Amino acid sequence: MMIQDIAPHRYDHTYVTRPAAPADAALCYDRRGVVLRREGEGWALPRFRDGVPTAGARHLFAIDGVACFLAAPPPALPQGCELVDFTALRAVRPLEVTFAAVTGAHLYRWYRDRRFCPRCGTPMAPGTAERSMVCPDCGLTDYPKICPAVIVAVKNGDKLLLTRYADRPYRGPALIAGYVEIGETPEDTVRREVMEEVGLRVKNLRYYKSQPWGFTDTLLIGFYCDLDGDDAIRLDETELSRGEWLSRDEIPSRENEISLTGEMIERFRLGLE
Ligand SMILES: [Zn+2]
Repeated sequence: MMIQDIAPHRYDHTYVTRPAAPADAALCYDRRGVVLRREGEGWALPRFRDGVPTAGARHLFAIDGVACFLAAPPPALPQGCELVDFTALRAVRPLEVTFAAVTGAHLYRWYRDRRFCPRCGTPMAPGTAERSMVCPDCGLTDYPKICPAVIVAVKNGDKLLLTRYADRPYRGPALIAGYVEIGETPEDTVRREVMEEVGLRVKNLRYYKSQPWGFTDTLLIGFYCDLDGDDAIRLDETELSRGEWLSRDEIPSRENEISLTGEMIERFRLGLE
């Protein structure tokens, strides 16, 4: 189950410009995390009527017809609400709340960083017909930032290449990953990143699935591929602390993960790939 797999719940990103009302959901962020409300065993999005000011709130999307607005954090946390750290957000349930909070965070960062025109420095204004920020002076139109990146599962017979990052908070087993450069296809990115990070050649690239990953403003594109030739790993130690070939029974279960990486590793472990 990946973060975007929220069916039967429905995500609707239709652009809406109306002001917020008391029954709408409020997504309030600061640098550390998002305000969520305890509900039973899990979490819910706070509503404006719980004590969030509607002034300056901006419509982001709807989940199951409930409009979700970006809002400034209230001066005092509403009853039953807590600031949930971004690093703890992966474990929030139900999944439609996780998805809303992470997708809202992606938009929050974009709006926060587009207050001034990147070309001429004039304050920007929200677009009237589509999600954009427009400069009233020079006319520059800026759209939400989505960075494509690849996730690569390299197979060598019944073994899979697993890595560990040297410099990220996430310490578990990972796959080769990297951003698509300007002028590059995702397939070229796969071959380049595998060569850069572990010094291996690959063949038989097979697209698997993609995933919006709002934690890092990315659209992840997942590929399986096969080792081509020599299996000796030459690690890029600035990026990775470890890289190794693991057989299916050496790979820990990832069944509760919400990431494309987790699903791709789990599929291999279960013998589905
Ligand atoms: Zn401008």
